[in-house]
Amino acid sequence: METEKVKCLIIGSGPAGYTAAIYAGRANLAPVVYAGLQLGGQLTTTTEVENFPGYPAGIGGPELMEDLRKQAERFGADIRYGVATAADLSAKPYKITIDEEKVIEAETIIIATGATAKYLGLEDEKKYAGMGVSACATCDGFFYRKKVVAVVGGGDTACEEASYLASLASKVYLIVRKPYLRASKVMQERVMNNEKIEVLFEHNAVGLFGENGVEGVHLVKRMGEADEERYDVAIDGFFLAIGHQPNSDIFKPYLDTDEVGYILTEPGTPRTKVPGVFAAGDVADPHYRQAITAAASGCMAAIEAERYLQK
Ligand code: NDP
Repeated sequence: METEKVKCLIIGSGPAGYTAAIYAGRANLAPVVYAGLQLGGQLTTTTEVENFPGYPAGIGGPELMEDLRKQAERFGADIRYGVATAADLSAKPYKITIDEEKVIEAETIIIATGATAKYLGLEDEKKYAGMGVSACATCDGFFYRKKVVAVVGGGDTACEEASYLASLASKVYLIVRKPYLRASKVMQERVMNNEKIEVLFEHNAVGLFGENGVEGVHLVKRMGEADEERYDVAIDGFFLAIGHQPNSDIFKPYLDTDEVGYILTEPGTPRTKVPGVFAAGDVADPHYRQAITAAASGCMAAIEAERYLQK
């Protein structure tokens, strides 16, 4: 297999990867970035980004990522298409296989592979992507002021998103497949005591409808039971909050992860337990998952990589 030696390999092209590339480029580390499945990462699936500092009028997600890419390239980042398909972090130089056809031998690695929001797997989720279907209330909630939305999920994320959306929307349906919420007590109480939130226990969303975007959801109550009921509810927005899957599988044999798969780092730093290997952005962040926090941790990872190489 073809091999190539690089000083600093960055895997992922979201805000964490590109910010790491800007800093690593300016530090003369000649970073090589492999973009992953989705050039620009999760933000390229968002329409408007209004909470990234520096854009008082907001900016389109794809446009923001394009700007970050150009900024990284300006400082010499070599940004390439390709997906990391295997890793060997057992000895230096660390080896990352790209698309099962090429091996990069890297002195330092910044893992910025992100996380992927889970979807239910309905055809309609794809049909209405960007037209009423979202997996990020903080990103898109603002567009549903005084409108009716539904959130799917019964965990802390779903409760948090439902509460957040209730501060904007006129009504929020929380669609929960079980007869109870999995979320922590405090989050459950917040949801149950919010007049704008109606919790639909034992409900599954099985489809969406609408002419120009989402206008409603097809629901099934007590699916598969003798008293199963099917009905529709009018909504303007459909939010998935059924968990995220961090893209960390290939690193798991070498790095510590939590039970979900988030890479564990030394608290307050992007350092993993393997010297010279850093994790930045959503792949190591179950808590904040914001573009700006991802960018910040990408910056930290690049500074750490530079210091590591100096040693
Ligand atoms: P969780 O895995 O905790 O919850 C996922 C929820 O989605 C569950 O209610 C689950 O239902 C439901 N779900 C999963 N798949 C489907 C499906 N196919 N159809 C319908 N419902 C489905 O994920 P979260 O993202 O909520 O939380 C992840 C972690 O992050 C947790 O540890 C959580 O505590 C933490 N967190 C903490 C916060 C805080 O403390 N402020 C905020 C956000 C997250 P079921 O219960 O039936 O499996």
